[in-house]
Amino acid sequence: MKVRVEGLTKQFVAQGVPAVHGATFDGADGGITTLLGPSGSGKTTILRIIAGLETADQGTVLVGDENVMNIPVRRRGFGVVFQNFALFDHMTVRENIAFGLRARRASRADTEARVDELLALVQLEGYGDRFPSQLSGGQRQRVGFARALAPHPKLLLLDEPFGALDARVRAELREWLRRLHDVTHLTTIMVTHDQEEALDLSDRLVVMDRGRIQQVGAPSEVYESPATSFVASFVGSANVLHGRVLEGRAQIAATSFRVPSNTSDGAQVQAVVRPHDIHIARMPAETAASAAPSPVSGRIRRIVDLGTHMKLDLALTTGESVTVHVSRKELEPLALSEGDSVLVDLESARVFVEDYCV
Ligand code: ADP
Ligand code: MG
Repeated sequence: MKVRVEGLTKQFVAQGVPAVHGATFDGADGGITTLLGPSGSGKTTILRIIAGLETADQGTVLVGDENVMNIPVRRRGFGVVFQNFALFDHMTVRENIAFGLRARRASRADTEARVDELLALVQLEGYGDRFPSQLSGGQRQRVGFARALAPHPKLLLLDEPFGALDARVRAELREWLRRLHDVTHLTTIMVTHDQEEALDLSDRLVVMDRGRIQQVGAPSEVYESPATSFVASFVGSANVLHGRVLEGRAQIAATSFRVPSNTSDGAQVQAVVRPHDIHIARMPAETAASAAPSPVSGRIRRIVDLGTHMKLDLALTTGESVTVHVSRKELEPLALSEGDSVLVDLESARVFVEDYCV
């Protein structure tokens, strides 16, 4: 199912700035598109407008080739799952799943058959006669998915569907949702503030900040080629270092970076570098550092063993702090301890002038 969101703008009465400002993107047809951004960036507002639960000041939502803006919620035929389970506590699992079908006046036999099919799909066979209070959080949310999927929706809308669950269950349900999607291929629009969940699950990412879309792309594209320094630091972890352009070069943390020739002196620049892209080396004893092309140095404040890799907190001599990730195998031969000084290579940093990538 084709979904296109075009020029959506929404300002709530009490707000000085729009919650959503000119949002335009295409959903991945038959895939999962994720709106990713910090709390308050306008993700839920967009999802609610698509669902028909909220009106827009401007813009349209096209599903298939149909403009759905004037179609009431119930007639849009979308399935919705929110963070809070919103199951009917006084109804059994079967009754909850059947609820959306009853409203459509399906026959009893058809309803029972569809509920059985869904119980199998969400791996809850044998749980049909339980009440929501007799299920775990993860199981309740799976019932929520089954209820949303029961009437064969054209579109599935998910707002932080695992937000209320603990980390381990979240991770399990993430895998489960991807497998479920691989069976249904239902065009899905999801909202999350969790970048790991978004990278893991999505076919397309829509990164938002303060009501505006920052970038739309495949997860690997957004991670590898972030359009703005906000995207670089929000999607995947990153160190952000600040500096200015001086005589045609960006000067950041004692490192000089190339910038476009039309960049004016004094422009603000940011260097964004992922923790695993920073390389460190032992300080040469005989202070022959002048031979090195970019002798940035720093002192190791802390070394933490995170199991999969080692994390080092460095205080650069220029005053900034950076986090470095290295494998144990790489770190061991360097024989470093907390308090030692090291050479720091920031060459793989990505440089942004006034927030735009160089
Ligand atoms: P997100 O889902 O990314 O956390 P929201 O879309 O919920 O963000 O909210 C975006 C902005 O709009 C926030 O500043 C929020 O306070 C505001 N907002 C959301 N809903 C309402 C509302 N019903 N009335 C007034 N302001 C709202
Ligand atoms: Mg939200």
